[in-house]
Amino acid sequence: NNFQKRGSVQFKSVSFSYPGAQNPILKDISFCAKPGEVTAIIGSTGSGKSTIANLLPRFYDTTTGEILIDGVDVKSAAMRDIRNKIGFVPQKAVLFSGTVRENIAVGNPEADTDEIKKAAAIAQAEEFILGFNDKYEHLITQGGSNLSGGQKQRLSIARALVKRPDIYIFDDSFSALDFKTDYKVRKALKDETKDATVIIIAQRVGTVMDADRIIVLDKGKITGTGKHEDL
Ligand code: ATP
Repeated sequence: NNFQKRGSVQFKSVSFSYPGAQNPILKDISFCAKPGEVTAIIGSTGSGKSTIANLLPRFYDTTTGEILIDGVDVKSAAMRDIRNKIGFVPQKAVLFSGTVRENIAVGNPEADTDEIKKAAAIAQAEEFILGFNDKYEHLITQGGSNLSGGQKQRLSIARALVKRPDIYIFDDSFSALDFKTDYKVRKALKDETKDATVIIIAQRVGTVMDADRIIVLDKGKITGTGKHEDL
């Protein structure tokens, strides 16, 4: 029942320059992302994809136009409320010095052991975690320097999952995974996130073939919107 689902996202004529910079990075961006759907944003490097992702949790305030979550402009919403709704998996995972468990649970301090394990399993992190002598109590060094890029991405995905957010943003979050792991993560995520609003950022259309809507970005402008077969 769509009517009760939360997490709808709407960008209305959004333009943006980074604070202190002159050149606009996003120009007149309008699109919707709906609960129960996967919206992909694709475009070449520097086209502004990550910038769009960063504006939703309001990492910057220098936007014009409107960014609405469930009809409320993020500018007038409490930062806490906005961030609670969003599970953000950034391009570069931000891990801190602490255990595997703590690094996952930071997404949701109330998550119990079962939830943490379930999230790790979906993110295909369970296997390497169980490979550590001290498993979920394994200590991660600052920035996760004792982990591979793909391991960091998977912990970062697990962290978003324990939050059970209305909106997921995956910013190039599968780039360090090998083909097989990438496939497994996405397959597991599909079921787990089926009621949420899912925004996936990618460079190439090939990695977001089954998205419900694909938005093509070029130099800060939307140059196409549609299903894969329409583009
Ligand atoms: P990629 O696929 O390489 O991640 P992208 O499409 O995500 O690229 P963005 O990271 O959104 O692109 O960058 C868009 C533009 O904004 C680039 O020209 C970049 O140099 C600029 N930019 C990004 N972050 C900042 C920042 N913090 N301050 C100033 N300019 C920035």
